Amino acid sequence: MAEQDSKTQEPSFRESVDIMFNRAVKLMDLSPGLEEKIRVCNATYVVRFGVRLRGAIHTFTGYRAVHSEHMEPVKGGIRYALAVHQDEVEALAALMTYKCALVDAPYGGSKGGLCINPRDWDEHELEQITRRFAYELIKRDMINPAQNVPAPDMGTGEREMAWIADQYKRMNTTDINGAACVTGKPLNAGGIAGRTEATGRGVQYALREFFRHPQDAAKAGLEGTLEGKRIIVQGLGNVGYHAAKFLSEEDGAKITGIIEHDGSLYDEKGLDVEDVRAHIVANGGVSGYAGAKHDPQGATLLEHECDILIPAALEGVINMTNAERIKAPLIIEAANGPTTAGADEILRKKGCVIIPDMYANAGGVTVSYFEWVKNLSHIRFGRMQRRAEEARHQLIVEELERLDDMLEHRWSMTPNFKEKYLRGADELELVRSGLDDTMRTAYQQMAQVWRERDDVEDLRTAAYLVSIRKVADSYRAKGL
Ligand code: NAD
Repeated sequence: MAEQDSKTQEPSFRESVDIMFNRAVKLMDLSPGLEEKIRVCNATYVVRFGVRLRGAIHTFTGYRAVHSEHMEPVKGGIRYALAVHQDEVEALAALMTYKCALVDAPYGGSKGGLCINPRDWDEHELEQITRRFAYELIKRDMINPAQNVPAPDMGTGEREMAWIADQYKRMNTTDINGAACVTGKPLNAGGIAGRTEATGRGVQYALREFFRHPQDAAKAGLEGTLEGKRIIVQGLGNVGYHAAKFLSEEDGAKITGIIEHDGSLYDEKGLDVEDVRAHIVANGGVSGYAGAKHDPQGATLLEHECDILIPAALEGVINMTNAERIKAPLIIEAANGPTTAGADEILRKKGCVIIPDMYANAGGVTVSYFEWVKNLSHIRFGRMQRRAEEARHQLIVEELERLDDMLEHRWSMTPNFKEKYLRGADELELVRSGLDDTMRTAYQQMAQVWRERDDVEDLRTAAYLVSIRKVADSYRAKGL
């Protein structure tokens, strides 16, 4: 990447975030002091720790950046990847600040990372490494239900979150709110239904909302619904897999291309997402998949014709070297920072519409927020209301049945109505409803600015304007 950066004058991820932030604040009337306060990353903690593994001591480097504490706790995932470094973590922490503000999740922004390739270590070793990293962060209150609450990100999932929560509880045995120190935990360790799918589900809800506004879709030269739309997805991990699965199974979209770390698959008739995922889980990648054309040069598929491109893997994949050749009229950034600032400008000039990362992948933090609230209230969502709701619905159904009898069955309920209406919402339904509402509301706030202001060309700038305004209001309310 460094070599490429020098050839193309490509801004780094961190610089890209700053460029995009600066473009937005130019359109605002913030005082220079406040602007600077919001932009800078408050603090970054770097830790190097040793773990004895395979008969030797291995030293690992980890980070936890806190971008903004206008609200506490601060929130953001922990990433495991060899490319993790301070600039990346700080850029991701900044995005978390804006993302949380945009979707009204009451947090400041943070992010963490560990320089490690999780594939190099077995499960037991990963547990030792994770617990030790967590220990280092917990003892400095950089994991704490009231101060800093991590979540999964690239290379981590509910398994790592369960280890972190357990480590916190071992070190804080009397903290009754201990489970709220981290989100994205498995259901049996204080998690919430629907968290694992949440980011991909949020991408689906975001696209549905986009297509509910034909005037917005028209800006990308698209019309109709998601039905039949051709989609290329990069990264079939947690986020990409769930997005691709829901969009193909529930909205009738066609996943024509999948790009993974070892190449791409393409089938214009549409790929079977479950089948490809099963192959990746079994073989570690898409190589050898018999059901579609495999190209070892995966990234070139980003440039292929499609209606929607979903980068859901790494940052900087759409950059100044390929932006001109990208044909997708609509890009939804499921990953964080997949488009560099340079590429963003090229694509904007070409008329490509980008649904920006800070909105597109906010489903994860939204459901993390629900999980945190669940942990603090110590009760599953719906537990008190569900049966009461069912009992009230039962009353209505009985009245309708009585009417039906009185009218000598000249009128009757449609099949399935009774079954569907009688069922009270469980936690998963409530979580999806809260997520859907969040994604719709945030889209509308962002899109309103995009439509109404002549000086706002794109959704990303609109998203920054909405979120920076909210962060600025919080700082002002604090007297800063
Ligand atoms: P993940 O580790 O589950 O999946 C990443 C996938 O990308 C893997 O399948 C990996 O093999 C693939 N990949 C790696 N290098 C690639 C390459 N060069 N080309 C194509 N594919 C490649 O991670 P995830 O949790 O799905 O996160 C993906 C992105 O979404 C990241 O940018 C992350 O910050 C962002 N995100 C994740 C969440 C979440 O809840 N997990 C929330 C918000 C944003």
